[in-house]
Amino acid sequence: MKKNLSSEKALKVMDTLNLKFGKILYNYFPDLKKLLKNTDDKRHQSYIDYPREYIHLFSILSFLFRVKSSNTTSISLLGRKTIDNINALLNTNLDKIINNGTLSYFYNYEDYSSDELLKIPTKLIKTIIRKRTLEKYRLQNKYYLIAIDGTGIASFKTRHCNKCLKKTRKDGSVYYFHNVLTAQLVINSGYTFPIDFEFIENTDNKKYNKQDSEYNAFKRILPRLIKKFPQEFFCLLLDGLYADSVIMSKIPNRWKFFIALKDKDFKTVNEDFDGLKKLLKKNYVEYGEQSFNFVNDMEYKDCKFSIIESKEPHSSPNAKSPTLKLKYLTNFHITKSNVIKLLNKGGRLRGIIENEGYNVLKNYYFLEHLYKIKSLEAIKSTIVLACLAYTIFQFIIIGTCKSKDNVKFIFKTLNAFTNKLKEMFINYSLGDFKKNMRISFDSS
Ligand SMILES: [Zn+2]
Repeated sequence: MKKNLSSEKALKVMDTLNLKFGKILYNYFPDLKKLLKNTDDKRHQSYIDYPREYIHLFSILSFLFRVKSSNTTSISLLGRKTIDNINALLNTNLDKIINNGTLSYFYNYEDYSSDELLKIPTKLIKTIIRKRTLEKYRLQNKYYLIAIDGTGIASFKTRHCNKCLKKTRKDGSVYYFHNVLTAQLVINSGYTFPIDFEFIENTDNKKYNKQDSEYNAFKRILPRLIKKFPQEFFCLLLDGLYADSVIMSKIPNRWKFFIALKDKDFKTVNEDFDGLKKLLKKNYVEYGEQSFNFVNDMEYKDCKFSIIESKEPHSSPNAKSPTLKLKYLTNFHITKSNVIKLLNKGGRLRGIIENEGYNVLKNYYFLEHLYKIKSLEAIKSTIVLACLAYTIFQFIIIGTCKSKDNVKFIFKTLNAFTNKLKEMFINYSLGDFKKNMRISFDSS
């Protein structure tokens, strides 16, 4: 009889799925319980059934297992072993499962603050950096790649709170919304790990004309990252919004950056580059179908920088132009020998955050459906909990199947894999997971 290779592999993965899940949390997220406990809780503590770390972990699990609706969270996670497994992870002694109403009540409670919850991703990534798990993916063996990008998280037809951003459409209708700027550590095999958030929101509801912006949010998140990561070397990957001397001058010298530069932006600098490019014909390299031009020692106001430009055939047949042109401002000194790697393994990886990070968070974790979002603090909590689930999920993929491609080969879809993960977690014991385990992102 012909063997079905993928189903045999699936059974093998499922055999150790629970144990590895527990081991990954135990080895790579050892402070998670403590951090979840050290968060805000406005409930009267003598009347509570469920401690806050339980509520947060339960929420993370519901994202991890892709529960689609807030109304079905509790029933979706109900299984013979759910409570035992959560107790084992948290060292708690609960005997029942939380209901959806209690979850929603917790996050929407008056004056509840998501501040401490929002600090958790940074702390977890610091631990992972300390463990040197992602060290191999540093650019030039030194710089962790950090993409910073904004995205929409919620929108409303009527004003939702006094911090809402407001926009008028062309037809005159008005809508209200919330956006967030996220810093994510990206690695070139296509994984992204959220490390910090800055919400784009108005502070004074009388000044409608002076709205907060992504650009301003960047000016707030940058000094915080510099302060939070005093030892680490980062290379920031930024989009064209930040192509100016103000932003470049704020990035510390010990850090690097790639800022996407469009032809229409930063005119004088673009013109200088076009002129110098013609003169510096030696600063040209070809690699397969790609070609690279670069100019070093450019200046604008007090900033010194280089520019790399690459051209290659567009991979998408629907593209407007047959040639894909990428251009970046950077503070790396470009040479013929480093230009290919800097662009292919550095500058252009910002695309990952758009293709992977946000799409996954928005479509995969159904952000807008969960917890009957009411308050802004509940929205913020939802974002950070989904991001934590996403980080853990990527470790589970690597720890159990070695890569996303393998997951797709063995389980056909990420969704099917997630279903198995949930099925195992709610029905079978995690086992003796408090043992060492090392995983490697190498083979992906
Ligand atoms: Zn609002």
